[in-house]
Amino acid sequence: MRAQFVISAAAPDQFPAAGAPEIVFAGRSNVGKSSLINDLTGHGGLARASKTPGRTRLINWFAVTPKPTMPLQFVDLPGYGYAAVPLDMRASWQPLIEALLEGTRPIALVLVLIDMRRGLGEEEQDFLEWLAERKLASHVVLTKADKLSKSERGVVTAQLKRQLGGGVGVTAFSTLDQFGRDELWSAIFRAAKPRRAG
Ligand code: GDP
Repeated sequence: MRAQFVISAAAPDQFPAAGAPEIVFAGRSNVGKSSLINDLTGHGGLARASKTPGRTRLINWFAVTPKPTMPLQFVDLPGYGYAAVPLDMRASWQPLIEALLEGTRPIALVLVLIDMRRGLGEEEQDFLEWLAERKLASHVVLTKADKLSKSERGVVTAQLKRQLGGGVGVTAFSTLDQFGRDELWSAIFRAAKPRRAG
């Protein structure tokens, strides 16, 4: 699979020109976001670009081509993702993230990463509601699924699906054994598929 770092942006005027459908990755620092991006693309060091000093507070774009007919852009939001960060950081990120998500970019899907052992917090709940209000498609990825037994994974996933209602997909994921990988790619493909007008 072709995958490469494109650009980092600290301000909306640095966003790249809109092109391929965008898959946005949001989650708290340490939730496993870089591991997920590396795992999905099969490029071990890809998301390291997002972790180099100076880039952790930026939005990072990666061009990813899972199939020749389906070029995508993966968009990695700053580590904390959304709320509950020190106010000064939040003050600089929030407008940036809002500019991205409320603009006219071709956003196909927002992946909201949650540590499977933690479950859905108020922050994530607020963020998912915020996305729904803006008619942005979202999908929850429960990371580090290997910390739970296979049966526990099923229970937690089903519980969360019920809690979120029909509109939001939920996939348990582990980078240790690729659990959830095919399912998540399917969700991405479904979301990114061009739809007929009307
Ligand atoms: P980020 O800050 O969200 O980009 O998180 P990282 O991808 O750097 O992961 C944070 C930590 O969680 C690292 O120590 C990873 O090795 C670990 N990690 C990430 N994904 C998994 C997983 O699926 N299973 C387990 N057991 N650990 C994981």
